[in-house]
Amino acid sequence: MRSRRVFNYGAGPAMLPAAIMQQAREEFLDWHGTGMSVVEMSHRGTAFMSIAEQAEADLRTLLGVPSDYCVLFLQGGATSQFGMVPLNLAPGGASADYLCTGHWSAKAAQEAQRLCKVNLVCGAGDQPLRAVPPPHSWQRSAGAAYLYYTENETIGGIEFHSVPDAGGTPLVCDMTSSLLSHPLDVSRFGIIFASAQKNFGPSGLVLVIARRDLLGRAPKNMPSLLDYAVHDKNGSMLNTPPTFSWYMAGLAFRWIAAEGGLGEMERRALSRSGLIYSCIDAGDFYRNPVDPAFRSRMNVPFTIADDSLHDKFLDEARAEGLVDLKGHRAVGGLRASLYNGMPQEGAEVLVQFMQEFQRRHG
Ligand SMILES: *Cc1c(COP(=O)(O)O)cnc(C)c1O
Repeated sequence: MRSRRVFNYGAGPAMLPAAIMQQAREEFLDWHGTGMSVVEMSHRGTAFMSIAEQAEADLRTLLGVPSDYCVLFLQGGATSQFGMVPLNLAPGGASADYLCTGHWSAKAAQEAQRLCKVNLVCGAGDQPLRAVPPPHSWQRSAGAAYLYYTENETIGGIEFHSVPDAGGTPLVCDMTSSLLSHPLDVSRFGIIFASAQKNFGPSGLVLVIARRDLLGRAPKNMPSLLDYAVHDKNGSMLNTPPTFSWYMAGLAFRWIAAEGGLGEMERRALSRSGLIYSCIDAGDFYRNPVDPAFRSRMNVPFTIADDSLHDKFLDEARAEGLVDLKGHRAVGGLRASLYNGMPQEGAEVLVQFMQEFQRRHG
């Protein structure tokens, strides 16, 4: 019996390209004639080492990662990076600048406050932002160890569409819900990190891309698992890495390249999200609060003017195989997440559903 695949608009873990899941299924019991599954392999054996090295090489090619940057495949998710960034880059009472544009940057700033001096450059009010405040209004501090921001606020649906100018300060960016959805100049950054489960794999893996000259300043009394330099020295194999997620991410990197690369991912993301925004903007029935110049290409939060219709919308959508459209519990409403694994058809059928729902209830 064939199982019925639904369109899953959840914010993560999220849909992955069907092709890579089929490939993973085909080689699940016997990877390339080794007679064993990737999930059974020693992470230090030649088979897994080849998977690991190929994944890193493919990612470096995709993103054009400069050779003075390390690429780490770690556990603990983006949330672990909220702590590792200040521990490694701002030790001993140093300060750091945080651009707060929503839920995830506020979380990161909160965690950093436990570990270093945090200066909030913008945001952090009670009201969710509708746009990234203009750079001339930013309250930068002198001598900050780094400037931190979240490229795409997954919950509020606010995205930076260009890299902010940090001057000479190392730029640190949480790209959990946007990495690999558009071309990127890695050399602009000190550290980029991203959990895999939004755009390029299952959960359990957080990718860290770090300029090597920033590492190695961690205090001596810090656990070695929290030290980027130790991970770099050990090729992300100080202990057992998340082998299956690493392998799946490798399949995703190859898939992205085969589909046309990051430019093509961006074109698709604009096309998918553009369909949904056009539908929202076509009338007063649906609403998205974000300034169009900062709207997310990955996560489209929206509400229905009559908010008593939200539950009905979710129930009827689910019955049509359109699932996980509920907004984050912190903000309510509805949200369509449209990562790399979401086919164009997923945006098209959602728009059809939205239009029909509006006809019946508008
Ligand atoms: C999902 C998300 C996180 C949290 O990721 P975890 O892997 O659960 O730690 C952090 N930042 C952003 C932007 C996210 O979208």
